[in-house]
Order: sequence, then structure tokens, then C-alpha cells
Amino acid sequence: MPNSTAPSLRDIPSVDRLIRSQDAVQLRRLVGDERMTAIAREIANQLRMEVQSGQWADTSPETLLASGVERLRQACETELSRGLRRVINATGVILHTNLGRAPLSEGAQTAIANASGYCTLEYDLNSGQRGKRAGRAEELLVQLTGAEAGLVVNNCASAALLVLSVLARDGETIVSRGELVEIGGDFRVPDVMANSGTRMVEVGTTNRTRLEDYRRAINASTRLIMRVHPSNYRIVGFTASPDLATLSSLAHEAGLLLYEDAGSGALSNLTDYGLKDEPLIRESIAAGADVVSFSGDKLLGGPQAGLIVGRGEIVTRLRKHSLYRALRADKLCLAALEATLETHLRGALQEIPAFAMLAFSAEAIEQRAQALIQQLKATPDFVLETNIIGGESAIGGGSGPNVHPATALIALKHERMSADEIERKLRSTHTPVVARIADGSVLIDLRTVDPSEEAELINVLNSIKP
Ligand SMILES: *Cc1c(COP(=O)(O)O)cnc(C)c1O
Repeated sequence: MPNSTAPSLRDIPSVDRLIRSQDAVQLRRLVGDERMTAIAREIANQLRMEVQSGQWADTSPETLLASGVERLRQACETELSRGLRRVINATGVILHTNLGRAPLSEGAQTAIANASGYCTLEYDLNSGQRGKRAGRAEELLVQLTGAEAGLVVNNCASAALLVLSVLARDGETIVSRGELVEIGGDFRVPDVMANSGTRMVEVGTTNRTRLEDYRRAINASTRLIMRVHPSNYRIVGFTASPDLATLSSLAHEAGLLLYEDAGSGALSNLTDYGLKDEPLIRESIAAGADVVSFSGDKLLGGPQAGLIVGRGEIVTRLRKHSLYRALRADKLCLAALEATLETHLRGALQEIPAFAMLAFSAEAIEQRAQALIQQLKATPDFVLETNIIGGESAIGGGSGPNVHPATALIALKHERMSADEIERKLRSTHTPVVARIADGSVLIDLRTVDPSEEAELINVLNSIKP
């Protein structure tokens, strides 16, 4: 290229020019001076390398500056969109582990807002003295489960770690081979046992474990019998295991304790919601379990928390252990948990979004889907092809793996965009929409989309263009 002239190095916009540009002024306040300068320096360096390699031949200094400013704007926007963001969950998976499991009720959200400043975390307004942390949540756990006492830690994994460490560190814990499960990738029963320092003694087989198997494993070093709810895993067919009451009699006759890690942990009968084999915490306590742990953000529909209920003397031991200090829940979690447990106590499950979503019939979802499609078709911007097809939602979060509520899905297609492309565009918008793909279509399940989010969903769908 004989006549081309590269811009001189002097024409490369300086860091200072970039961050003083009109576009940068407002972004600088959001991103912060230091970060802004670092990003601008990176862009100025990029431009210098590009100029030196001849990429910008015949370009005016103004164009070079404009390109730098545009890159700065994009880099700042990427930076600002990092971290936790609200998304619209159109997957139909109610307790979606990657999307934050249980969406909180309005009451729980208000409770978090109220507790986010100063609050009575460990303060008793009556006496004006130090009060008991988590007192109200523990009281509610007792009322809801019939146990003598309750305790709240960070999550169910920490609950299991605390229980095993305090009750069985110096000895053996007996567990059925059918219950050595992995839940959600990182929680593996044998690993938690090893971390707690108890020695795991496996009994029985994958599909059948008898009372005799447990009995034969008991010796002078045994401290605990553990029962684990298999959660997202089911053994069906030729199976057997002693019920909790039988296991509890065996443990108590031998002077041992029985611990149940119940996982999802239902507080009330959920058969109306199609959930038939989730252990009821009240029943586990009544059957003689000395201590039971379960999650706050699975079928409880509350914040991430590990809930422990059981005999008073055992809960006191757990509370006094230094590990409890490391694993205890914070004020925001406790605030949301109190509100959620109060809702359970009132029997107002429909106020908890996870249950409201579960309760939607396929017909009701189909009606919403039809109305949404009509609104979309009424907007000239909308370019996608839509169909309503039958399908299934899921509970997720390791709960109710056999429960697949029937649903109506909006299937989206476009002749010039692949399903992957549409799906990627959906999650790259200002309000990201997370959806599934099947058979070449993007699928929107309104079961997990709150009706109040539909207007936003319509805006996002309207913005999808080839
Ligand atoms: C989900 C689950 C856990 C882990 O609970 P987190 O609250 O995710 O820590 C532990 N045990 C069982 C049986 C579970 O189902």
C-alpha cells in the first residue's frame, strides 16, 4: 500500500485523554478512578501496538480516539455487569442451584432489608442487655418440628460437619452403603465424614441394608448411626433399609446416637404438591432421631442455611463447640429465615415463591404463555417464531427427583439464528433471561417466571434480533 500513512505515536490517545472524554466521566464515578485508569492504560497500550503493527493506516487521530473511548465504555460496562445480578429464570427448574436455589418471599426480602442496618441480632430490647443470637429462629424450629431445641448454621453441609465433628470425632459412624451419596457436586458423604474426623463404617449393600448389618457393626468405638436422605438419587426395585424408628431403637439400646441428614427437609406434608418421599422433619424427630439436619433453601423455600434440630442436650453441645462460632449464620440469613419459618407456621405456603410456582397447573401456565405470545405478536419489533409445546418442569436443588410437574413451554426459533445464538442473546441482555434448549428450539417455562417479570421478559424477547 504505497500511499498509506500510519498515525504517528503522538496521535495515540493518552490515558488522560481517554478518561477525560465525555463518555468516561459518568462511568468513572461508577467504576472508580483507580480501576478506570488501569482499564484506560490497557486500551492505550492496545492501540499503540495496533498502530505499530500498521493496523490503523490512513486513520485520523479523531477516529483513533473514538475507538479508544468506545473500547473504554465497553470495558467499563463489562466490569459493571460482573458479580451477582438478578436474572429471569425461564428454565422451569424451581430450586435452580446455579441461580440461587429458593427465591425468597416478599416477607423474607423485607426482613433482610430491615435487618441490613442495626438490628437486635444479639440484643434483648426488654432487658437492654445482650440477647440470644438466632433465638427466634430456633424457637420457630422447635414449634415446627416438635424437637427440644434448634440451631442455625450456614448451610446443610456445615450442619453435617458440625454434628459429625462434635458427636463422633473420636470414634466411628455407621452408615449404609446405599446412602454414601454425592449431592450437587461438592457434598459427598464420605468426604464430610473424613473432614469431621469420624471413622466411616459402611454397612449393607447399595440396594439393601438390614438392621442386622447395623447391629453387627456396633463396637466400643461406635459413636453415631447416620442416616442420609439420598436427595437427588433414588434406588428403586429390590431395595430395603430399616425405618428410622427401628434404627433409633437399635442406637438407643446400644447407648448410641442417631443422626439423620434429611437434606430438603419438609416441614409439612407436601403430597398436595406432588412431593411424596421427602422426609418430614417432625416425623424424624417423633421416630426417635436424636439430631436432624436440613437445608434452608431447598423445600423450606428460604435463605441458604443449615438447620439442626434435636435433643436439647445435644444441641447445647453443638452450640458450645468452637466450630459453631465459625459456621453460624449471619443477620441477613437469620432475618430471612425467621420470616420464612413464620410463614410455614402460619401454613401460608402459597406466600413462598417455590410453592406458588410448584402449585401452577400446566393449564394455568399455558394460558399465561398464550397471553404472552399475543402481546409479543402485537409488537412490530418481535421477530421470533413461537410455538407452545408440552413439557416438564423440575424441582431441582436435589429435591424431589421423581417429581416432574407438567408444564407448557414457549418454543422460540428463528430461520437465521440458531437456538444457541438465541439462548446466548437472551442471557446477554440488561435483564438476563436463562432458558433451556431442546430439539433446536429455545424453551421458556413460565412456571419459574414471576407474573410481575413478564413485562420485562417481553422487552427482552423483543430485543432479540439476528
Ligand atoms: C442438599 C443436601 C446437603 C447439602 O446442603 P447445602 O445446604 O447445599 O449445604 C447435605 N445433605 C443432604 C442429604 C442434602 O440433600
